[in-house]
Amino acid sequence: MASGPRVCRTIAEFRAACDEGRAGGGRLGFVPTMGALHTGHLELVKAARRYADRVAVSIFVNPTQFGPNEDFGKYPRNLERDVELLRTVGADLVLSPSADEMYPAGEKTRVRVAELSQHLCGPFRPGHFEGVATVVTKLFAIAGPCTAVFGRKDYQQLKIIERLARDLLLPVRVVGHPTVRDADGLALSSRNAYLSSEERGRALAIPRALRAAGLLFRAGERGVRALIDPVRAALTEAGLAPDYAELADADELFPLGVDAQVGDRALIAVAAFCGTTRLIDNLVLGEDALPEVS
Ligand code: AMP
Repeated sequence: MASGPRVCRTIAEFRAACDEGRAGGGRLGFVPTMGALHTGHLELVKAARRYADRVAVSIFVNPTQFGPNEDFGKYPRNLERDVELLRTVGADLVLSPSADEMYPAGEKTRVRVAELSQHLCGPFRPGHFEGVATVVTKLFAIAGPCTAVFGRKDYQQLKIIERLARDLLLPVRVVGHPTVRDADGLALSSRNAYLSSEERGRALAIPRALRAAGLLFRAGERGVRALIDPVRAALTEAGLAPDYAELADADELFPLGVDAQVGDRALIAVAAFCGTTRLIDNLVLGEDALPEVS
C-alpha cells in the first residue's frame, strides 16, 4: 500500500520539502485546493503527476476569497479524510497552513488581474478573484512548482491565473484540466454537499442546458440570443436563481451582445443559486466535450 503524503503544517517545512525535491532535478507539480476533496480534485493530482516527478497539494480555505455573506464558516473541512484520498492517488506533499501564516499581521498586498476579474462572477463576488489571485501567487512563491494544474470547472479562475503567471513572469506552466462530472452530469464541487436530494435533481438543469446549447452550436447555430435564451429559460424553469448565464469571449471573458454572432469558440458560463447553494458551470463551445447527462 502506498504510504501517505507528507503533511506540512508550516510554510517553512513545506518549502524545504519542495526545495529538496527540486534539488535532485525533480519536477514539481502543484494542485492548490480548499480541501473537501472529491474525484475532480483527485483527477487534477493524477494529471499533475503526468508533468512532474513529485506532486504537492495545498489545502487552505482562503479567507480573502470569501465575501462577508458567503460560506467561509461552514465550508467543509476534514484534513484527515483529504490526506487519505490524496494517498490513493500518490500525492507526495500536502501543505495545510494557518491563515495567520498565510496572511502575516500587518499584510497589505493584493494581486489584482484587471478586466478578467470584472466579468462573469466578478460583480457578484466583489474581492473574490483578488483573494484567489493573491493566495495563488503566494502559494506559487512558496512551492515553486514547474507545473500547476487547475480545473476548467472554474474557468474564469483558470484564465485569471494563466494571466497572472504570464504578467508576473512566474516560471510555472499553468495547465487547465477538463471538468469532472458525476454520472448524471452535475459538475463535481465541494459545495454539492450542501444540496438536498430534491435540490440536486433541480441542479441537473445546469449541465442539461449547457449540453443543449452545445448541440445547437454543433448544429450550426451562431446567434448569441438563440444560444443563450434557452439556457436562461431552462434554469428559471427548474427553479434555479441565476446570477448570470452569459455567452462570453473564451479568452478575455467579456460578454457577447445578444445581437452578436459567435465565432469558432465561445464560453457559455452559468452561476445560479439552487436554494442557498451557489453553483457554477461552463462549456467552451467549439472546444469542450459536451456534458453527458442523465
Ligand atoms: P477548490 O477546492 O474548489 O478551490 O478547487 C481546487 C481546484 O480543483 C481548482 O483548480 C478547481 O477548478 C478544481 N476543481 C474543482 N472541481 C472540479 C471539477 N469538477 N472538475 C475539475 N476540476 C475541479
